[in-house]
Amino acid sequence: MTRTILVVEDESTLRETLVDALEIEGFRALGAPDGRQAILRFRAEKPDLILLDLMLPELSGVEVCRIIRAESAAPIIMLTAKDGEVDKVVGLELGADDYVTKPFSLRELTARIRAIFRRAEQASAGPAQPMIDLGHVRIDLAGHRLLRNGEPVALKPKAFELLAFLVRNPGQVFTRDQLLERVWGYDYAGETRTVDVHVHWLRAELEEDPGSPRFIQTVRGTGYVFRRD
Ligand code: CA
Repeated sequence: MTRTILVVEDESTLRETLVDALEIEGFRALGAPDGRQAILRFRAEKPDLILLDLMLPELSGVEVCRIIRAESAAPIIMLTAKDGEVDKVVGLELGADDYVTKPFSLRELTARIRAIFRRAEQASAGPAQPMIDLGHVRIDLAGHRLLRNGEPVALKPKAFELLAFLVRNPGQVFTRDQLLERVWGYDYAGETRTVDVHVHWLRAELEEDPGSPRFIQTVRGTGYVFRRD
């Protein structure tokens, strides 16, 4: 499995050097020269790890980190220009997984990257998937079940798959077409109405007031998003 790494760095020489070096190390590496493009590429490519420079045009590294963290748990390594304690603290508080201070050696950076991937592999090998507690219902991702008062709720398998997909990507808005692709598969010749019907079923089970849903929300003109808060 080839891991994809997004390199967010406005200094073009450094960015290209990093992209080339990571490709040589066997990763798939993509570059983004500013914060805005970083977010676009992050959403389009779903990288497995992000190298994030802190001082960036358009959106700062801090902003980019906050946006990515709100949408994904993908590991982030901050690249800090100054040897500033403040940057490190801010970065880690924002949910960055690690940081390296410029100038750094490629050897040091790739060691950090491999360490993060190793930790992720170990974590996923364990008794991984959590029980998602929504109060009156719980979602058992490992057991593919929805529980109400501890009792399994009868759900069509695709409805559960849709729920599990949304729950694993909280805060991320998906169009009906994207949901069809991701949950039903690229070859599925159905129509987007299928998604609406399944969402309707899920809301009937999950929501205290299905007419005013709290967890699976409609984003007008776009699609659906799962929120927990
Ligand atoms: Ca910079």
